[in-house]
Amino acid sequence: MTTTSHPALDAIRARIHAAEAAASRAPGSTTLIAVSKHQPPDRVQAVLAAGHTCFGENYVQEAQGKWPAWREGFPGLDLHMIGPLQTNKLNAALRLFDAIHTLDRPSLATKLANAVQRGAACPQLFVQVNTGLEAQKAGISPADLDGFLRDCRGMDLPVFGLMCIPPEGADPVPHFRTLRAMAEAAGLAGLSMGMSSDFESAIAEGATHIRVGSAIFGARDY
Ligand SMILES: *Cc1c(COP(=O)(O)O)cnc(C)c1O
Repeated sequence: MTTTSHPALDAIRARIHAAEAAASRAPGSTTLIAVSKHQPPDRVQAVLAAGHTCFGENYVQEAQGKWPAWREGFPGLDLHMIGPLQTNKLNAALRLFDAIHTLDRPSLATKLANAVQRGAACPQLFVQVNTGLEAQKAGISPADLDGFLRDCRGMDLPVFGLMCIPPEGADPVPHFRTLRAMAEAAGLAGLSMGMSSDFESAIAEGATHIRVGSAIFGARDY
């Protein structure tokens, strides 16, 4: 397929490769999730036209309104749910997304396991960890993680990795390190961490998936 160039995307790709090299990591070992929530359709289509196939969305309803149609032209599309997932939207999410980064509570794990037992394809799963112990933030607290992962295994729910959103304004690096240590201890390969402002430090700390929105698309349209 011919692709059109996208300077902002190219610049992010170059920074990812440089960060991988600086950390002695293999080139291409970081998956770039282009976070397209609240972006005008023409900006998303420009990134699709540049040959990028991995996108992240925060809201099931918003994603339902655009991706089923776009998916037709891009069979290799890889769509990641990175926002809070209400259990009443779970079935719609399972039809739409290839990965869910926000497995953040036991009730969602139970519903997910039931859906998979009934025959739904299981998306790639990341458990969101509330590394900052923030009351207003979703996620499993670090102290509860082992028990939660054990419960997931008990329900035959395969967890691929961990995800975190460090507290706003805080140095993210200690949170990235904590998440990595928890993933290693649990034998999990995936680490979803790093956004526009800090993805290079996340790559240095071992991120396998970075979630970058505004640095690719520009400021969001609310
Ligand atoms: C919106 C969002 C992002 C992308 O944020 P940018 O700062 O625009 O890169 C990443 N992760 C999550 C969970 C988000 O909600």
